[in-house]
Amino acid sequence: MTDRVRDWFGPRVAVVTGGGSGIGRAIAAALAGEGACVVVADIAETAARDAAVELERSGGRASAATIDVSKEADAQRMVETAVKTYGRLDLLVNCAGNLPALKPVVDLSEAEWRALIDVHLTGTFLCCRAAYDQVRENGGAIVNLSSSYAFKGRPNAAEYSAAKAGIFGFTRVIASELAPRATVNALAPGPIDTPRWRAGLSDEELAAKRAKRVKDVPMGRLGAPEDIADAALFLLGPQARWITGQVIHVNGGEFYP
Ligand code: NAD
Repeated sequence: MTDRVRDWFGPRVAVVTGGGSGIGRAIAAALAGEGACVVVADIAETAARDAAVELERSGGRASAATIDVSKEADAQRMVETAVKTYGRLDLLVNCAGNLPALKPVVDLSEAEWRALIDVHLTGTFLCCRAAYDQVRENGGAIVNLSSSYAFKGRPNAAEYSAAKAGIFGFTRVIASELAPRATVNALAPGPIDTPRWRAGLSDEELAAKRAKRVKDVPMGRLGAPEDIADAALFLLGPQARWITGQVIHVNGGEFYP
């Protein structure tokens, strides 16, 4: 990256929720690689700690926070961890996510609906609200993880699609509130090969899923977590200061909004 990018990230402090795995872990690594201090926040304690240790071993500055984004007190504690450890918070990436039940609406229980909405949508709200004053004061940036599912309307993912569409709407509102001080944008990834994407599948099932999904992707491959990290780094960095309230589709051409 250029000096301009390193000069921007060097003094800045970031929190990445869901930073213990997949896309969040790649974003945390990208931020630390550009010199930002990173708090890896995840419900999975070992994953958060391992990710932070790995970043430090690679020469970055990182800490772990074990938090559940759907709990107000945890979101607050996450921000306090950044401020106590590094003195400030500039950048927030809302990447934490649990898995949908993968059932048609008629079979989806209220508990399953609420469990997913609580983490993806309410969690994004709680973390943004907890970070709001710091990000505004410091002229920072927020990136929220939406999904192509928010736009496509596919069967068996009602609670996930609704949460991810909600994140897009929420992003626009908070972007308008934080302007002109800070930017807020959403990323809508297509299929990204992460632990979440592979969850519960045998090797044969996974090979079949990969072969099937890649046919929908004009760029000829599934996404890697680093593809999303590159887009997140751009939105959090100095080259995107006039981009706010937007959703960027990072999907290999799978879907044209
Ligand atoms: P992942 O499962 O690899 O990582 C998600 C992380 O979130 C895990 O470390 C998990 O422990 C953590 N997490 C779950 N619930 C939490 C909670 N309540 N509080 C704090 N942390 C919690 O998943 P991923 O594929 O890297 O997905 C990351 C984000 O990107 C999610 O929001 C997902 O919906 C979104 N996304 C993923 C894809 C994809 O194809 N993988 C596509 C579009 C959007």
